[in-house]
Amino acid sequence: MDNADYIESALRLANARTDDLESLRAELRDEPWWSSRLTGRDLELLRDVATRLRRALESATEGETDSLSTEVNSLLRDYPPRPSLSRHGHGHDPGWHIHVADPEQPPSTEIAAAAAWGMAQGIVLHGTDRWGRCQAPNCGSYFLDTSTGRNKRFCSTRCANRVHVAAFRERRRG
Ligand SMILES: [Zn+2]
Repeated sequence: MDNADYIESALRLANARTDDLESLRAELRDEPWWSSRLTGRDLELLRDVATRLRRALESATEGETDSLSTEVNSLLRDYPPRPSLSRHGHGHDPGWHIHVADPEQPPSTEIAAAAAWGMAQGIVLHGTDRWGRCQAPNCGSYFLDTSTGRNKRFCSTRCANRVHVAAFRERRRG
């Protein structure tokens, strides 16, 4: 993974549904090495990490940089990245890759470390004023706005379309 992927990991976990194991597995389906090994204990831990990530993101969107750095540093302290180089494929590409935590540990250790690292990298690379929250009703997902116009309002095209279709119907009803 490169730094963009770690930022993605942080956002994905912050926005993930953590009601039960099945929901969390579905959210992490692109990382089978993580999702296939999740247990109830991982779920509990990641639910807490997700809450803390959302607090950090809330601070970023509010421009509260002190509480933002406090929150991110506390995540880095609790889930420190411990990178190791690995060449064992997990059933797919046998190529080189980096684990940000001991791969023998439960997957939540590495997922949390990747998210903490991604959050810190996101701030270093993009600053604190490009984080936003989706304005679509019933969404509220956090996102990083990397557009040149800095005018992103929705987390995804799905949410943008949902709002635009609703507005269009509203106008037609007139
Ligand atoms: Zn959304």
